[in-house]
Amino acid sequence: MTAFDSLWSTILDVGQDKDTRGYRRFAWSDADLTLREWFGGCATARGMDVEEDRNGNLWAWWMPPGWTGDPRNAFVTGSHLDSVPDGGAFDGPLGVVSAFAAIDILRGRGVVPTIPVAVAAFSDEEGARFGVACVGSQLSTGALSADRARGLRDNDGVTLAEALNRAGRRPEHLGVDDTLTDRVGVYVELHVEQGRALDLVGRPLAVASAIWPHGRWEFTFCGEANHAGTTRLADRHDPMLAYASSVRSARTSAIAHEAVATFGKVLVSPNAANAIPSRVRAWLDARAADEATLAALVDHISAEARAHAREDGVDLQVTAESITPIVEFPEGPRARLRRALARLGDIPVLPTQAGHDAGILSTKVPTAMLFVRNPTGVSHSPDEHAESDDCNLGAEALADVMAEWVT
Ligand SMILES: [Zn+2]
Repeated sequence: MTAFDSLWSTILDVGQDKDTRGYRRFAWSDADLTLREWFGGCATARGMDVEEDRNGNLWAWWMPPGWTGDPRNAFVTGSHLDSVPDGGAFDGPLGVVSAFAAIDILRGRGVVPTIPVAVAAFSDEEGARFGVACVGSQLSTGALSADRARGLRDNDGVTLAEALNRAGRRPEHLGVDDTLTDRVGVYVELHVEQGRALDLVGRPLAVASAIWPHGRWEFTFCGEANHAGTTRLADRHDPMLAYASSVRSARTSAIAHEAVATFGKVLVSPNAANAIPSRVRAWLDARAADEATLAALVDHISAEARAHAREDGVDLQVTAESITPIVEFPEGPRARLRRALARLGDIPVLPTQAGHDAGILSTKVPTAMLFVRNPTGVSHSPDEHAESDDCNLGAEALADVMAEWVT
């Protein structure tokens, strides 16, 4: 069995729902804690020192012989271990498993690193439990303040601070990681592709060029609750109508801007089958190739939604919840990746519409990403898939990239 295959099989049952086959590996849940132990076990089995930093991010170190003192200028590779609700097996863990496998492959080739190497697993990347994505990396770079992070709540009202305490961690330690820029020479994240671009060109691997700018906006439509039977249609102030029209407008607008726009979460008050709603809160996720297009897209969708609200006699408020600027992966590491993978031919270079820790970290350290083909493009779903041959090729490729940096 290959280095990748033997490791991959060891986490497949952690946090998997028996009915949906999807994964529920939420930050600081039992499944997450089990995966953290698994990570520690992988490190120990390889003689690597493991540490959890102040923000819950895990690091396993492979140091050059004779190295003394703190690691500096390391080659760091990894991803995350948490999932969305009913997520797939590959989003996140593929990068962590491939990182350990790449080390096994290099050791099998007799490679000894001349600079420190680390496998990293960043905490709470998906934001499935506390509503904010990339919490671990955002805390470390300072993009998310420790106070705001501690106060984040899950659907049961549990704060991140309480969840950390329950897991035996110290929420008062959350904050900027001042060692990041010294320690990390480059961060290379291998990730399953979350689209079909590679399948469409018949290639197994790609190097990332950029992450599209993206954000979330809350649209609150306020009308008037009333009886669903006795209220004349002409007398209604129904926020659901304006919301429904806005969903369709968002689609039309996304097509016009060659972008994507999604209303995927909605909260209705009072949420009764026999009542006209008083309020509809909906969240727009929008992403575009550049920041000007994203701004124009959201302006257009908001203007359309306001027009629908006026027509239906309801009020609308639009609030930006988070906006993430474009990430353009630096040319230097990208070129080095392509050079290391020259045996695979001219490797495709693709942008992605999905956010990643590599994007967050890029404000502080050089980062790069490798994508592994996903034949259906389905992600954040139990049907997410990558072929075993492609996963193994990904781990080999990561080993080649690692060798390029560390020897
Ligand atoms: Zn991911």
